Amino acid sequence: MAPPSRPPSVDSLARSLASTGLPHPLLVDAAREAIAAGDPGSAEWRAAAAGRALLQPVINATGVLLHTNLGRAPVAVTSTGTTYANLELDLDDGRRGSRQDRAAPLLARASGAEAAMVVNNCAAAVVLVLAALARGREVVVSRGELVEIGGGFRIPEVLEQSGARMVEVGTTNRTRLADYQAAIDRPGADVTLVLKVHASNYRITGFTEDVAVDALAGIGPPVVADIGSGLLDATTPWLRSGPPAWLAGEPAARQTLAAGAHLVTFSGDKLLGGPQAGIIAGRADLVAACARHPLARALRPGGLVLNALQEVALAYLRRHGDGIPFWRMATTPLEALRGRAAALGAGRPVACAAVTGGGTLPGVEISSVGVAVDGDHTATLRAGPRPVVARVVDGVTVCDLRTVDPSDDAVLSRALAGLLSANRSAGDSDAALVSPRP
Ligand SMILES: *Cc1c(COP(=O)(O)O)cnc(C)c1O
Repeated sequence: MAPPSRPPSVDSLARSLASTGLPHPLLVDAAREAIAAGDPGSAEWRAAAAGRALLQPVINATGVLLHTNLGRAPVAVTSTGTTYANLELDLDDGRRGSRQDRAAPLLARASGAEAAMVVNNCAAAVVLVLAALARGREVVVSRGELVEIGGGFRIPEVLEQSGARMVEVGTTNRTRLADYQAAIDRPGADVTLVLKVHASNYRITGFTEDVAVDALAGIGPPVVADIGSGLLDATTPWLRSGPPAWLAGEPAARQTLAAGAHLVTFSGDKLLGGPQAGIIAGRADLVAACARHPLARALRPGGLVLNALQEVALAYLRRHGDGIPFWRMATTPLEALRGRAAALGAGRPVACAAVTGGGTLPGVEISSVGVAVDGDHTATLRAGPRPVVARVVDGVTVCDLRTVDPSDDAVLSRALAGLLSANRSAGDSDAALVSPRP
């Protein structure tokens, strides 16, 4: 140990942390901060904190299937790996192709759309549609649909940013077809689109009325429906047991287009179960107009995203819901979860409720099974070598197994067993930790 008058050099302290595997400059930062704080011994946890700040796999035991803080839908790391890909190459004639010819037509095929294109997220999809089709012109939207979704996606502000002029119709709770018609027919009107927005993350109930897409489709201007969640088909042909009850009422791309919407926009990482992306699907000429707009280039996704999205689209076309982690987790039978909870051998099995999350299906619960440990152990679970994100309910830590991949059960079991033994060696009574609850 260096005497207090001569602290270790930054460099030697940084070198002593080499076993963390972090790059030397990050270790130098940790060493420098530790020495500046007059506590060289703290360099180790400072380096560990820098390591924990890196993007890394975590076990989602929250029961929130589309957890915004955990990247929404779980995605597999997919096939092209560390290699080039034919992102913009036509392999037939060796000429330049389009990245929009990869996942997009597969998603169009799966949703019954004439054409589709992919951008960075659904917010970008809405901005691009409005900028490409309605810049400087009027867009009619119901006052009941002027919503905010997620952090700061506000329909009135998005409309303004796109350069379109918003014409509000109806009231917060009730909008009728005649309201839309009056706005379109008023003297001096310049309505170029009707925008219908799914109020994904909240519900208006009681004395309400809104206008369905099929009625709007007949009144003149093209109808754009921002359905948000990315449910491709309400009949869920990719699920052997058909649509789960908890999906009821959620708008789907195929049915919205069949009802007459000219375009739909939706997220890639909500109920679609893919990577972060936004999809614009519908009439080919309108999709082409979006693709031609200069903003399309700024909003285009990269090859990693298109590759992951292609895998998801192929699974839909194969009607293989189990190939899409979100759907596999969402529809795992309770018996299977119960069996896994019992087999974990740590914590006590409890019934709990999962949710879809990600601003979809508010208030809708999916029955689930978890394991519980008394007390709040969430910080300890997050700090492990393979971080586990769990919930605390009434002073009990609950790990919901619906959102845990079965291949992670062994790791979760060890993390929970670690809690129990740490508690034992700290002298607390086991009874306090694992006492059964009514
Ligand atoms: C979630 C959502 C959005 C925003 O989607 P991102 O992919 O997060 O940009 C837009 N509109 C609706 C209706 C949504 O549900």
